[in-house]
Amino acid sequence: MAMKKEEMIEAKKLNPVDFLAKVLEAEKHTDHICWKCKYLKWVLKGSGFPPADIIGWCKKIHWPHYWSISEMDVIKKCYAFEAKS
Ligand code: SF4
Repeated sequence: MAMKKEEMIEAKKLNPVDFLAKVLEAEKHTDHICWKCKYLKWVLKGSGFPPADIIGWCKKIHWPHYWSISEMDVIKKCYAFEAKS
């Protein structure tokens, strides 16, 4: 999907992490605190690969392996949380 001119102007003001967050749409929308955390790698919309109950993966806990975040266990607090910039 192509970006409109106004969207491109706004996108140029974003850093690379925030730009990717804007253009890579997530498959799910839940109440996990992870959505505000810079370590969430979310499942992309339309992706058929991951299990259906996964919202994404945590890139910090259990590093260097990613930890799957289930849709069923809503994380409200996390010791490793770091807000997105
Ligand atoms: S560090 Fe905690 S809040 Fe951040 S993505 Fe991982 S599990 Fe979620």
